Amino acid sequence: MSFSSLGLSEPLLRAIEEKGYAEPSPIQVEAIPAVLTGHDVMAAAQTGTGKTASFTLPLLQRLSSGSKVKSNHIRALVLTPTRELAAQVADSVTGYGKHLSLKSSVVFGGVKINPQMMKLRGGVDVLVATPGRLLDLYSQNAIKFSQLEILVLDEADRMLDMGFIRDIRKILALLPEKRQNLLFSATFSGDIRKLTDNLLNDPVQIEVSPRNAAAQSVQQSVYEVDKGKKPALLSHLIRNNNWDQVLVFTRTKHGANRLTKKLEGDGVTAAAIHGNKSQGARTRALADFKSNKIRVLVATDIAARGIDISELPHVINFELPNVAEDYVHRIGRTGRAGSEGEAISLVSADEVKLLSDIENLIRQTLVREVETGFVPSHAVPITRLRDQSTKPKKPKKPKKPRTNNDSKQREGNGAKGQSRSGAKPQGSSRNSSGAGGRSAQGDRQKNRATKKKRSGSKPKRNPPSRSN
Ligand code: AMP
Repeated sequence: MSFSSLGLSEPLLRAIEEKGYAEPSPIQVEAIPAVLTGHDVMAAAQTGTGKTASFTLPLLQRLSSGSKVKSNHIRALVLTPTRELAAQVADSVTGYGKHLSLKSSVVFGGVKINPQMMKLRGGVDVLVATPGRLLDLYSQNAIKFSQLEILVLDEADRMLDMGFIRDIRKILALLPEKRQNLLFSATFSGDIRKLTDNLLNDPVQIEVSPRNAAAQSVQQSVYEVDKGKKPALLSHLIRNNNWDQVLVFTRTKHGANRLTKKLEGDGVTAAAIHGNKSQGARTRALADFKSNKIRVLVATDIAARGIDISELPHVINFELPNVAEDYVHRIGRTGRAGSEGEAISLVSADEVKLLSDIENLIRQTLVREVETGFVPSHAVPITRLRDQSTKPKKPKKPKKPRTNNDSKQREGNGAKGQSRSGAKPQGSSRNSSGAGGRSAQGDRQKNRATKKKRSGSKPKRNPPSRSN
């Protein structure tokens, strides 16, 4: 399959060639012809699938043959949940549209509104916007919608998660009824369905990958650790393994700040990125991270949403997210576009329920690891995956109560390598009592053992093994 066979025009094909894309991604194969023919589209796709090009390319083509945009008017509106995503989509619009003479602009909050108003004055063919700032501009008469032909809602699920539903409804009420609607969302919850029912007109539905696809292409593991020792374990793992470009997720903004300070104190260069940071600080942190000036970017879920960093080697969940699906979004930052990636979760005893929700969502039991010097006082039990009881279960061996001695033994055995191999230290025998993940766990541990043997400062990875 080639881009030209999708019906794209020469100026767009030239831009694609300059980007170096060899062939369209699955979502592009499906979405580009559908958008070109003017249909509404509803696509289930995560960041990393090439979804931005799948709506931007045909949108530009459709606009290139239409009427001239009047002052303060726009012809296509792309709504995104975050400033970072807005900036990235706007870059794509500029990049793919470089050989066309369409005007595009981006507006979001946290920066001065006047320059944005000035840009809109001359009219803009494609406007990428976050909802709040768009409404501000509208209320100041800086923008008019009567020429609007195409609306795109990008990462619609996240917009709802972030509480934008009222803003979106307000915006929808301002738009002309006759228009083309394109909606992209990683997940389709009840709320999204409600929105799409009213918004989309007989849409072409596209689903290129199951929602846990990212989870299956990334090598994932869990480090069991006491809550208070997580910062020290994180520093230790980064320094010991000599990791660069580590994206770390925390649940709160304060947690992100605290952890950044601690890492800096340990000699690991880091920056935090979250909603309390100014736009300038966020952009700087992201640029420093991309150019390897800092090793670690500590982010909250919302801030990290939409950050496009390709081939990110390490994603660490310092804390598990409250919503299991956020885990999939988080680890979608690594192993993108076919590159290898590793996602590690530091899990303390109070997070057992969250871990089990995640493992049930991704239908996979994650490998448990214990690092020497960080043996937890409470073990993280293996999750029994729900609806996995088709195989007869082996009778359970009575569990030996854990004692301090067990812990010491695990630690003394050089826990890291051994807990990954078949020669299990005492404490990890509890790990094999899980229902669904039992044999997979064994396989994964074998893989890990091999990896360990080959590993230097940067381990060579085996292909990720799946548990189901
Ligand atoms: P997205 O899912 O839109 O965030 O895109 C993820 C990344 O894939 C971006 O860095 C794009 O530049 C890149 N990309 C998009 N389409 C293709 C393609 N057909 N071939 C290779 N890379 C692509």
